[in-house]
Amino acid sequence: MRLSFFGACREVTGSNILLETSGQKIIIECGFFQGGGNSEERNFAPFMFNPASCNAVIVGHAHLDHTGRLPKLVQDGFSSQIFATAPTKELTELVLEDAQKLMEEEAERNGHKLLYSKSAVAKTIDKFTTIPYNERVEISKNVYLTFLNAGHILGSAISVIEAEGEKLVYTSDLGNTPSLLLDEPENVTDCDYIICESTYGGRIHEDTSKRQQALAEIINGTVTQNGILLIPSFAIERTQELLHDIDHFCTINNCQKPTFFLDSPLAEKVTAVFKKYPKFLSNKLRHEHADYDFFGLDRVKFTTSVDQSKEIESAPNPKIIIAGSGMMNGGRILHHAKRYLSSSKNSLLIVGYQAKGTLGRRLLEKEPQVVIFGQNIPVNAKVRAIGSYSAHADSPQIIDWISKVSNVKKVFLVHGENDQSVILSKLIRKKINIDVEIPQQGESFNLTSSTQEKTFKRQVNA
Ligand SMILES: [Zn+2]
Ligand SMILES: [Zn+2]
Repeated sequence: MRLSFFGACREVTGSNILLETSGQKIIIECGFFQGGGNSEERNFAPFMFNPASCNAVIVGHAHLDHTGRLPKLVQDGFSSQIFATAPTKELTELVLEDAQKLMEEEAERNGHKLLYSKSAVAKTIDKFTTIPYNERVEISKNVYLTFLNAGHILGSAISVIEAEGEKLVYTSDLGNTPSLLLDEPENVTDCDYIICESTYGGRIHEDTSKRQQALAEIINGTVTQNGILLIPSFAIERTQELLHDIDHFCTINNCQKPTFFLDSPLAEKVTAVFKKYPKFLSNKLRHEHADYDFFGLDRVKFTTSVDQSKEIESAPNPKIIIAGSGMMNGGRILHHAKRYLSSSKNSLLIVGYQAKGTLGRRLLEKEPQVVIFGQNIPVNAKVRAIGSYSAHADSPQIIDWISKVSNVKKVFLVHGENDQSVILSKLIRKKINIDVEIPQQGESFNLTSSTQEKTFKRQVNA
C-alpha cells in the first residue's frame, strides 16, 4: 500500500491524497487550495496522477478545501464513483455550484480561463454514491470503506479504509467537542495508520460555555452604540450555530432589537439541508427541539436577492449582518465591510479559521487599513474573535482521540500550518509514543515496506 500526499501538506487547504494498492488507485478528497498568493495557479495545475486511471474517490465532508477540485478531476478523466454520506453529497452540490458561479463571474470580469464548467459540477454530483455511517462497503476491488461520524459539519465522516491487510484511518476534519449541533467524533478502536488533521494542533480553544456570554456582550455593545455588527460566516455549520446562539440570546433577553440579517443565499440553502437531515444532528439538539425548529428562523431576515441585500443599508441601526464568505475572500460580506469598517461604532466578529493572505486574516491581525474593491478602507470598527466557534478539534482533543486508538504504527499529520503540525507531532511522540510524519507536498510513503521508504515527487507549482 502506498500513500502520496498532494495537498494540505504543511498548510490547511487543498486536501488530496492518493492511496495505491497492488491493483487499485483511490483518491482521498480533492479540495481547493485557498488563501495563498498562488492558490489559483495551484488549482489549475495538472494532477500528479492520471484521474482516468483511478478507481474511486472518498470525500469526508463538503467544505471546499476538501471538494473544490472534484469537478476538475472529472473534467480531466475520472469516471468512477465518489463515496460520501448523503448530507455531504447535497452540501457538496450547493458549495460547488456556488463556487463555480463565482469563478465564472470572475472569469468574465477579468477575462481569465475558467477552472471548470457548470456541467462538470453536474457530472461530478452524478458520480456520488452515498453510504451511511457504520456500514462497511467495498468501494473498489478488495478495498473497503466504513464512515464514522467526525462531528465536524453535517454529514462529515472519518474514513476507515481496509486493504491488503492494513487498516488506514483518515480523519478529514475532526470536530470540536462539545459541538452545538453534532454528536462528538466517533472513536476508532484500532488501526495501522492514521492520517490526521492538525489545523489547531498547537492550540487550546476557549471554553465553549463562554461563547454565548461573549456573543451576548458583543450584541449588547452593538445595541448600546446603535451600530452594526458584521459576522463573516461559513455557510455550513458556523452560520447554523450562530443562528442557534442568536435565537438563544433573543429568547433569554426577550429582545426586539437589533435586526438580524442572513445575507447569504448559500447559507439559506444549506440551513434547509440541515433541517432535511435531523438524524445527522446531535441527540441532545433533537431532544431539546422536538419541533425541529433548531435555528429560530422567524427572527432572521433572509436577503436572497441582490436587491434585498442592498436594502440592508437603509434598515435602521442597530443591525447584525451575517454574510459569506467566511474568510472574506469574496461574497457579499465585502460590500458590507467596505461600507461599515471605517466607523468606530461598528464591530466585526471573526468566528472561524482565517487562512493566510485572506482579508479576514489581515483584519484579525489588526491591519489599520485594508483594500476592498480597489478602495482604501481605514479600519476603525472593533475587530473581535470568538475561538470556540471552531469546528475543529484543538490540541488536547486530537491527542485524546488518537490515544484511544490501539496498534497505531504511524500518524501522518496534514491540514495544518507547519507550526501547528510540529507542536502536535511533538505532543503525540511524547504523550502517546507513536511515530509521526508531517508529509511534504508530493511526498510518498510505501506502507508495506519495513523501512518506510520515502520517495519524492515534487509538484510543478508546489
Ligand atoms: Zn472542514
Ligand atoms: Zn478542511
